[in-house]
Order: sequence, then C-alpha cells, then structure tokens
Amino acid sequence: MSKLTDVYSQLAASAGMRYDQVNNVIYGQKDGFDMVVYAEDSQAPYALTIHTAAKTPTGAAFTKDEFKELSKTVDALGVGKQEGNHITVSVVGSINQKKLRDSLGSKLPEAMNGLVSFLRNRGCQPCCSICGQPEDVSAYVSAGSYFHLCSGCEANMRGNLAVEEQKKAQKKENVAGGIVGALLGSLVGVLCIVLFSQLGYVAALSGAIMAVGVLKGYELLGGRLTKKGIVISIVIMLIMTYVGDRIDTAILLWRDGGGADAGYNLFECYRLVPFAIEQGAMEMSVYIGNLALLYVFLLLGAVPTVISKVKEKREEGRMVKIGSALGFNSSSN
Ligand SMILES: [Zn+2]
Repeated sequence: MSKLTDVYSQLAASAGMRYDQVNNVIYGQKDGFDMVVYAEDSQAPYALTIHTAAKTPTGAAFTKDEFKELSKTVDALGVGKQEGNHITVSVVGSINQKKLRDSLGSKLPEAMNGLVSFLRNRGCQPCCSICGQPEDVSAYVSAGSYFHLCSGCEANMRGNLAVEEQKKAQKKENVAGGIVGALLGSLVGVLCIVLFSQLGYVAALSGAIMAVGVLKGYELLGGRLTKKGIVISIVIMLIMTYVGDRIDTAILLWRDGGGADAGYNLFECYRLVPFAIEQGAMEMSVYIGNLALLYVFLLLGAVPTVISKVKEKREEGRMVKIGSALGFNSSSN
C-alpha cells in the first residue's frame, strides 16, 4: 500500500466514510447526504474538496455570502460554491503538505459535520445532482466530474455517453488533415519560441503551448485524436521546435550577425545557419546549448500536456460508480 492510499483510508475511517482506492476518492453518506471527498489537483493530494448534492427549500443556490458565513463558522471549511444542485466546499489547511496531511484527521470530520449542519439548518434536502429528486442517490465519476445520481439519471447519463462514444467511433480519423492541423497548431508554438527568445528568455511555457497547439490542431482537422495521432503529433513537436530555434537563430544572424548588412533576407539567413556555424560566425556550443535547452523545456511543457491528454482520452465516455470496483472498506458501516 502506498503512503497516499494509506493516509486516505485512515482519513476515510476518521470521517466515518469509505475509500475507493481505484478512483482515489473518499465516499459515503453523512446524515443522508451523499458525499465524495477528493483532491482536485493530484499534485496536491492533501488539498481536499467535499462534494455533495443538495436542494435548498426555495431552490435558489447559496450565495457567496452564505458560503463565507459557513467558512467563518466552521474553521475547517474554506471556499464553497454551488452550481445547480452541486455543492463543493474545500477543506482548509496549511500549504505545507506534511502539516496539512497531519491535521486532516481532525479537520475532515469537522468539515463534513459542519457542512451537514449548515445544510440541515437551512432546510436542505439530499438530492440527485441532475433531476433534484430526493431519491436514493449514489456517487459516480465521469470524465473527471463527480455526480450523485438517482437510478433514472444514471441510466440517462450512461445512455448519452454511449451514443456520444458511438458517434465518435464512427468518425474516421483523417491522418492527412490531422498532420496539416498539427503543423498549423505548431506555428503557434514556433511563434512563442521566437517571441520568448527575442524577449530574452527560454520558457517551459512555449513547450506547453507547442504541445497543446499541435494536439488540438491534429484533433480539429484530423477528426479525432488516436494513439497514432499522438505519436505523429510528438514527432511534429520535435521537428517544429528545431524549426522554431532555427528561425530564432536566423533572426539573430540577420539582425546582429551582419546578415542584413550583407544584403541577405531572413529566409536566406535561415538557410545559412549551418554555414554560419561552420564559419564560426556563430558559436556551435551556444547554438547547440540553446537548442538543447528548448528541448528540455519542450519536455517539461509537453510531457504533462500529453499525459493529461492521454488520460482525458481514457476517461472519455467512461462512467464509474464510486466504490464499485474492488476497493476495500475502511469504515465499519
Ligand atoms: Zn435524478
């Protein structure tokens, strides 16, 4: 058992909840309210959010002031918001991950009980996230969003997802279109590399922009983004980063390296980059160093982007009942 799952299962037990190890979500019911507790950002696994579905007596959503009041009354509760029947409130803690983790054992139960009292005191009823019926609801996760659904809405949602998936599956991947789209998208990345460099720095941001531009471009003009598309996109990112760096070098050569004075235009300077290096007009080590740095930043920016895209693809059309996979119950009820 890894440390995180260990902490989460202990947390679940301390709050009288269960822990779904597969989806990494703490879940269960508190005084009739179906709740899930999760980290919005997996990079900050101890910054937890509580999510439930409830209906106010008037049907109107809670105001910002009401949530402010709540966080004032209950120390453990932070920012709250309501969208439709969805209510989310963050659990307050330290920015220090270790301190945060150590304090959660007492904070989480306080936060959950505080939220339930708040809801009950205001006459709220537990309900289905979508239709608002106070029927038996269970927690689901679909494409990274959480829902508390009655059986009718669950069936509807599964049906809709299936239809969408079918539509997507019927859509053919147009590789040529995808490549054109990826190349067009990569131009945004190239522009960023050149602009950032002209401003005097190399940034990981340009790597991320390159990755997003290429993947989005492929998906838009290719119809869909398959594994093949992702591989093609990565190759295009690698090539276009080189192109971006060479354009940047060509601009240097043209403006500062005497290229313009010698009557060359920018395009000729682009072609002359290897020659200039060979002739010593430009230092090989500087050129290679700069290019290597760009690739490092491409890696830093693109790897998380590609990973999250692949994850997103995997999550698409997927709907899972929290606690339905082989997890374990860490509470006795
Ligand atoms: Zn419903």
